[in-house]
Amino acid sequence: MCNNLSMFKIIKLCEKKDVINSIDSSEYKKQRVIELINLCDKENRQWLYIELTREQLGEIILPQHIHNKSEIIDIYGVKVKDFNYKNFGKNCECKKSINYFSDTNNISTLILSLGKIKGVNIDDGYDGLHNNPLKLYHLDGLHRMLGYYKQSNNNKVRAYIAW
Ligand SMILES: [Zn+2]
Repeated sequence: MCNNLSMFKIIKLCEKKDVINSIDSSEYKKQRVIELINLCDKENRQWLYIELTREQLGEIILPQHIHNKSEIIDIYGVKVKDFNYKNFGKNCECKKSINYFSDTNNISTLILSLGKIKGVNIDDGYDGLHNNPLKLYHLDGLHRMLGYYKQSNNNKVRAYIAW
């Protein structure tokens, strides 16, 4: 295994089908996540199931996020810990979703990539992101990771990562 992985608490190696089976979203959103997972496949990445520290959760890079036609995160992306909660404007849905996940013990698995994935369509929101091969990038679970990060207790957050 490459050195980039030494910073993570690895639980197990896993397969693409495990990652796809973990997606808990609407059918439309699920298809979009599967497209991203397929791009990881094209890069011959493998999947790991890991446990994140709170610090690692805060360092995850989020892509552009448009919710109900409002741009909540711009094309340059933002780290979870640097997300600006003033960005909501009149968009209550996004805020509501994050608040929901900041107040639940039901922690579900995130999907991430180590380093930015290539070959993503311009409208996927990853295009403007700087690539750092040592950083984790969001693939699924944007509202969840912001909500979990707000939690003050030590719930264990786990993630599938494509490396
Ligand atoms: Zn949102």
